[in-house]
Amino acid sequence: MKIITSIFDLNKEIKDYKNIGFVPTMGGIHAGHISLIKASQNKKSKTIVSIFVNPAQFNKIKDFKNYPRNIKKDIVSLKKLKVDYLFLPKTKDIYKLKSKNFVLKKKDKILCAKFRKGHFEGVLKVMNILMSLIKSKDLFMGEKDYQQLFLIRKYLSKKHNVQINSCQTIRTRSKVALSTRNKLLNKKSLKKASDIAKFLHKIKLKSKSHSLIYLDLPNHKNELEKKFNIKIEYLEFRDNKTLKLNNFKNEFRLFIAYNIENIRLIDNF
Ligand code: AMP
Repeated sequence: MKIITSIFDLNKEIKDYKNIGFVPTMGGIHAGHISLIKASQNKKSKTIVSIFVNPAQFNKIKDFKNYPRNIKKDIVSLKKLKVDYLFLPKTKDIYKLKSKNFVLKKKDKILCAKFRKGHFEGVLKVMNILMSLIKSKDLFMGEKDYQQLFLIRKYLSKKHNVQINSCQTIRTRSKVALSTRNKLLNKKSLKKASDIAKFLHKIKLKSKSHSLIYLDLPNHKNELEKKFNIKIEYLEFRDNKTLKLNNFKNEFRLFIAYNIENIRLIDNF
């Protein structure tokens, strides 16, 4: 695996952009990331993984500082997977480059965009830079961050002529969606996250087999908040394709964001 830390080396190393699959990450490599890497390796002859903890997408400096990082361990995991290139850009090199400032349309200011002001603008700005540098025609992204996937498709895929390949959420046996942030959770919080995931999974199953008017989401929200002592930002059924509030005619997902011991988790079912 070649580790590339400068844009100069990136341009020198990567000659055939058509052949390369791109997996952008913030590191803390886990089985979720690995599933994206494997999907890229199945489709493309080369794979590049980037690790960049993007300051612009964090709302609080403390959250940015506390974000779990373990680059040495990540390098070992990526080498084992036979990843071809690891791109580890420096923050100053990324921000030196010009990028459009993205402004979300009003109808996109929902879910995390509503609760984390500026978050997706930061994601889009840096993804725009990474995509112009790497020029891959195939990106691999997880459904775990469904709204991110949706917005990158909407705002960036045409511009860069890129296909966004979406990959299913990978969970632990106890149904918790894998996430680098889970490393910040203690045992008790992880157990709560597992019980919440199992509960929501059941609601999603019920929603498929019962008439949805009987599914009282605000009631479930209160119940979860009380039972687990958590603060839920949103719990909403939304359309898979448009992310509009669901009329239950099309395929839909149940989206949640909540804080557990001050750690913000998101998931969808
Ligand atoms: P992150 O490092 O958290 O920014 O995630 C990098 C990529 O991995 C994003 O496309 C995420 O959606 C994806 N990802 C993160 N967690 C999972 C998971 N549990 N299953 C599948 N993909 C994931």
